[in-house]
Amino acid sequence: MLVKLLLLSLVISQICFLLVSPRYKSRWPFAWYYTKVFIPFLKDNNSHRWKFFIVPCFYLSLYLYIVLLYYLKLHPIVYPHITCFENVILIPSFVMSVLYLGIATVFVKPQNSLDSKLNSKKQYEYDKILYYPDTICRTCRIAKPARSKHCNICNRCVLLEDHHCVWANNCIGKGNFIYFYGFLIDNTLSLSYGFLRLQYLYLRNVTQLPKAALTMSILLGVFAIIVAVFTYMELSIISEGMTTNEQDKWYVVQNFMRDDKLVRDTNGNWYFIDPTDINDMNTPTRFYSTNPYDHTVYSLTDYTVIRDPSEINNIYDKGGFWENLRELLG
Ligand SMILES: [Zn+2]
Ligand SMILES: [Zn+2]
Repeated sequence: MLVKLLLLSLVISQICFLLVSPRYKSRWPFAWYYTKVFIPFLKDNNSHRWKFFIVPCFYLSLYLYIVLLYYLKLHPIVYPHITCFENVILIPSFVMSVLYLGIATVFVKPQNSLDSKLNSKKQYEYDKILYYPDTICRTCRIAKPARSKHCNICNRCVLLEDHHCVWANNCIGKGNFIYFYGFLIDNTLSLSYGFLRLQYLYLRNVTQLPKAALTMSILLGVFAIIVAVFTYMELSIISEGMTTNEQDKWYVVQNFMRDDKLVRDTNGNWYFIDPTDINDMNTPTRFYSTNPYDHTVYSLTDYTVIRDPSEINNIYDKGGFWENLRELLG
């Protein structure tokens, strides 16, 4: 009990220092924490790369804790009350497949821009709304293929970059989508199955369950909900024919469109109206390309204001969930 209280107070004090130190960085003891811990640990990614493994290790520990809790405390009591199929095939398969897919999601790196150069057939077309040709990554100093993004944590340009997953400490992109989606779906199914099966045993009152069953129920229930929400969000993005990274970019484009500040010229080029430049006649004079690498101020006379999402074509959307999924996994 005393150890638990000490651990809890340590965690709470760390969180308080973490939140308050940047605000009071000139006052003792926050000044010491800010310069000795906050800056080196949180900002210096190169010297403290091990910190990115805290979250994956936390999830792995939690997962192993649930598995051990089951096999040491619950299994000896419940195994006569569940079917042979569950005992011998289903539960061991869930345990092993989640572990395998989790490890693969952490260690299988997605393809980078150099892989794209080697395999030019796999390159995507530039849509000239989100992605433009002749853009060079400022860090890697190589041409950015369409649908790629530089990750500051992985320190490379990732093809078909979805997002940097903190749970796996890995970028999700071309080459490891299958493990990532498999991991999410497998987790959702196994955690939900474990939670629902336990509730069924409780309700049927088939046997006297130990205290560990309550701990397991809470852990399984909470994490089943969290993982199910993540899975739903990821799968719904696939239906829209975009990656999570592109969803953020489309969000910016649509925000400009809602404010009547997205235009297309007669050559089909896309521009944002400078939001700060509206003169007395309400006629904009300054336009910026939707290409974030192009800082030229354009002056357009002949253009169309885009007001409807149907006027914007997402060329990467293949028309449905399965078609888009095949594109990501292919
Ligand atoms: Zn790069
Ligand atoms: Zn990354």
